[in-house]
Amino acid sequence: MELESILLPGVEAKRPIVIAGPCSAETEEQVMSTAKQLSERGIKIFRAGIWKPRTKPGGFEGVGVEGLSWLKEVKKETGMYVSTEVATAKHVYESLKAGIDILWVGARTTANPFAVQEIADALKGVDIPVLVKNPVNPDLDLWIGALERINNSGLKRLGVIHRGFSSYDKKIYRNLPQWHIPIELHRRIPNLPIFCDPSHIGGKRELIAPLCQQAMDLNFDGLIVESHCNPDCAWSDASQQVTPDVLDYILNLLVIRKETQTTENLAALRRQIDECDNSLMEELAKRMRIAREIGTYKKEHDMPILQTSRYSEILEKRGSQGALCGLDAEFVMKIFEAIHEESVRQQMEIINK
Ligand code: PEP
Ligand code: MN
Repeated sequence: MELESILLPGVEAKRPIVIAGPCSAETEEQVMSTAKQLSERGIKIFRAGIWKPRTKPGGFEGVGVEGLSWLKEVKKETGMYVSTEVATAKHVYESLKAGIDILWVGARTTANPFAVQEIADALKGVDIPVLVKNPVNPDLDLWIGALERINNSGLKRLGVIHRGFSSYDKKIYRNLPQWHIPIELHRRIPNLPIFCDPSHIGGKRELIAPLCQQAMDLNFDGLIVESHCNPDCAWSDASQQVTPDVLDYILNLLVIRKETQTTENLAALRRQIDECDNSLMEELAKRMRIAREIGTYKKEHDMPILQTSRYSEILEKRGSQGALCGLDAEFVMKIFEAIHEESVRQQMEIINK
């Protein structure tokens, strides 16, 4: 994927790049008051939803085009860059006409290839940073597919926003972080900037600070946080918004660790890890060879492949052996489940030959 920097003039390339503002633009006063307070606290990029995708009809669905003129006013009054969510070609045209600086694609939209294609087509020939939120479901290829559609329209200033994934059971999070998914995205497309949206992951104010810190510890480039001049009275997502003052407090407490800290000690420890991984791999290969031999024996003696009692014995024994070695029994059992599954697959190949 051919990418270029999303940084706009005057925005420092220092982690975290912060985007902040209300979930929704509600009134001109609310937008201006929040924007001024954020700008006074050094925030350079403002966010506000103009069109709101809501789970159920009848809720507040955004103020629409009228709100764009308030964002224009924010730019004029504070000098901040402004960003909003687009879900249709019309949203794109209206936002571009109003001089919006950064667009983002919402989680529900990313999950819909037709909608993403429509946005990508509307953006052909336009040079504007676009941030793509993860789809609501934990599907990395769908997320990358959305990026590719927009990139294929010639947009190179792309970034992503990790906002967590829906689940039927709500645990402490509104949307489960499943950090391994953005981490894998970063592994596949290393120069793609990643923002974390702690507001939509957490769903509650108290979780914003720890989630911001976690994102920084995982080397995310930026944060997009919902901030409202009067959070309790917000027309959408009231429980997860913080005042500009609280946001400033949270940001000031963040510990930003240095990205590259490859000291000699760390390099030596990593060499040891590499050696361990090599031995693990050799042992695994040896184990699979033996499993295949067992497969041949079972075939010659007309025996079934899956012998449940042996399988349970392995899982239980390895679990408790692991615990004796100071490993988590459940973790060890998970590994042996995967190993056993692969052994069975290999033996099936032999039997069906
Ligand atoms: C938002 O950022 O206001 C929003 C609607 O988020 P998401 O698409 O992540 O649900
Ligand atoms: Mn919101």
